[in-house]
Amino acid sequence: MHELSIATAIVEQAEEIAREDGSDGVSSVTVRVGELAGVVPDALRFAFEVARDGTALASARLVVEQVTARAWCGECAEEFAVGMPPFFWCPRCDRPSQDLRSGRELEITGVEAVP
Ligand SMILES: [Zn+2]
Repeated sequence: MHELSIATAIVEQAEEIAREDGSDGVSSVTVRVGELAGVVPDALRFAFEVARDGTALASARLVVEQVTARAWCGECAEEFAVGMPPFFWCPRCDRPSQDLRSGRELEITGVEAVP
């Protein structure tokens, strides 16, 4: 389960961000997870509960913002959702398009410290 190593990395990064802010407790962490990032949100939430044990995030909440995978078609200037599993084909002009604009995100976008 690679979500555990991802969750561990999220916990470590969030701890560091909180520490730089002069706080030693985190109440919530927000992460953006793209549809094509290869992370199952439920598995990540579960792994987070394991990874946060004994850290500054012991009582922290994990907020997962899911990002839809979208590709761009240069032929007709159309952005379209590629779906899951991804299908890189423009629905408007019926041509293939590999220009992925979003969907691979895996990043921390917010860390809330314990007041
Ligand atoms: Zn098109």
